[in-house]
Amino acid sequence: MGRFEGKVAVVTGAARGIGFAVATRFAEEGARVAVLDLDEANAVDAASRLPDSGVTSDPSSQQGGAHLGIGCDVSKTDQVQSAVARVVGELGGLHILVNNAGITRDNLLFKMTDDDWDLVIGVHLRGAFLMSREAQQHFVAQKAGKIVNLSSVSAFGNRGQANYATAKMGIQGFTRTLAIELGPFGVNVNAIAPGFIASEMTDATAARVGLSVEDFRAAAAERNPVRRVGFPEDIAATAAFLCSDEAGYITGQTLVVDGGAKLVS
Ligand code: NAP
Repeated sequence: MGRFEGKVAVVTGAARGIGFAVATRFAEEGARVAVLDLDEANAVDAASRLPDSGVTSDPSSQQGGAHLGIGCDVSKTDQVQSAVARVVGELGGLHILVNNAGITRDNLLFKMTDDDWDLVIGVHLRGAFLMSREAQQHFVAQKAGKIVNLSSVSAFGNRGQANYATAKMGIQGFTRTLAIELGPFGVNVNAIAPGFIASEMTDATAARVGLSVEDFRAAAAERNPVRRVGFPEDIAATAAFLCSDEAGYITGQTLVVDGGAKLVS
């Protein structure tokens, strides 16, 4: 019996990378999972590749299977409202929300455009706010729920990422505040601050600084005590723990998952 048998989880930005690994982990442990991502075809494709939780699907669902893929820009109120309504209608409830969708638009401050700022703040902060506001109605009504927000070690400051660091530190304040407001209703709210995780996001950074993916990852591995980079599965395992019953006494926390890199930098 998996830890998430009978649960419905929504993971945003889950068509690839960390989000897909988180969605996979929840599905492996018995949850029915809604993959939300910008592109509906990518979201549906990712949902179709998740392990089957063995739950009979809702016959009214267009997609069949135990999981659901939905195109949704998390920074748009109407899209968030209709996506959450579809999840509850087609998967039969909502118990877990992982706010993972993210983008980078790196630039030194003097070159950062209004759009670079607004897009990053919009996806990370407004996105987490809209998704959480929509989900909490269901959590509060059933007096149970779990929210995990993706922060980053960049929250502590990172050259070229004034927009992203601000959003990721904002996520930590948002997490603590939701923990205070929703705790009395049986809802745990925590954040994960990953260090370097091998994904398309960090591969794109390698290209931007003119390094091969291999050299960029090797340099990151060299900088931390465990001498390896992180993988999406490291974050998936952390998210699964924070959303499990065993973590019921943990709320409002940001767990740094970086192989100890912050200890030595
Ligand atoms: P990724 O590979 O770039 O995946 C991000 C996903 O989010 C993509 O599928 C992307 O869709 C989707 N997305 C972007 N904007 C969206 C929106 N407005 N609405 C819905 N979905 C949207 O990134 P990742 O490395 O897996 O990172 C996942 C999360 O972890 C992010 O919040 C990131 O900031 C955080 N994080 C990552 C690292 C790392 O080292 N990788 C470290 C610390 C924190 P498209 O492909 O269509 O753009």
